Amino acid sequence: MTELHIHLDGSLRPETVWELAKEQNIPFEAENMAGLRTLLQAPVPCGSLSEYLSRFALPVACLQEEYALERAVRELTEDLAGEGQTCAEIRFAPKLHLQKGLSQEQVIRAAIRGAEQGMKHVPSIRVGLLLCCMRGEGAENEGQNMETIDLASDFQNGGVVCGVDLAGAEEVYDTGLFRNLFLRADRYGLKRTIHAGEADGPDSVRKALDMGAMRIGHGISAAKDESLMRELADRRIPLEVCITSNVQTKGVPSLQDHPIRRLYEAGVRVTLNTDNRTVSDTTLAKEISLAKSAFGFTDRELEQMERYAAEGTFLA
Ligand SMILES: [Zn+2]
Repeated sequence: MTELHIHLDGSLRPETVWELAKEQNIPFEAENMAGLRTLLQAPVPCGSLSEYLSRFALPVACLQEEYALERAVRELTEDLAGEGQTCAEIRFAPKLHLQKGLSQEQVIRAAIRGAEQGMKHVPSIRVGLLLCCMRGEGAENEGQNMETIDLASDFQNGGVVCGVDLAGAEEVYDTGLFRNLFLRADRYGLKRTIHAGEADGPDSVRKALDMGAMRIGHGISAAKDESLMRELADRRIPLEVCITSNVQTKGVPSLQDHPIRRLYEAGVRVTLNTDNRTVSDTTLAKEISLAKSAFGFTDRELEQMERYAAEGTFLA
């Protein structure tokens, strides 16, 4: 199995969050593991996007030191392999891990070490890292994003860093604002995916394509636009669809309203992903069985989606 869209900070083992928080004296409001799980998991659906995003505060606070980043990536690699995955791309934004003085380069090196340790331990899986730039405003954000792109270029031949992404609030910060970033990524020959068409409309997906996105994170609003679906199908652009997450963040009004079937029937290369395993309390196996039970996908169709994912991976 192949998975293309997994955020590190949303996919930590709750037991690990507990240990890291205790070791680093990071306070949290839970007295036992059950309480901590509640803190880390978002309800379906969430009251608001900010309620969903609040679930990331503690894991991100725990991932401000090299040993913690290394451990988190290693464990996630092992967890994915344990679920039968053979190829997976894990993503994180280096600039969110600088609160205790690490540089982006140190953050990336720690994550690479974790991935390498995990693959050494469980050789059945191949893991790549996607470096996320963040939507936002101001010179500092832009400078940090540019640094992320530069570092992705420096590390791209090492075999673990396999591309870049853009994440964050697309309905607040228009995809088109980040053109310079992706011009630079293009010059470096970086592979790129962009979160688009999740909270925002089809236009966001079009702008992502204009900026050279080779895959789209979510992209579900493309279903509202026939010509865009045709373009995605013709250009063989995979969509990294995350059904449970889309319901939680109200990217769709309800599960039944999710357009995954419509996108698939239009010939769009739909792939199944978890987005955030811990926050959404899901696994790829759960997403596959949800696709079967809620949308009637057959085993043959699911095999086709797996082929789309395997062909769409940025891992060479
Ligand atoms: Zn995502």
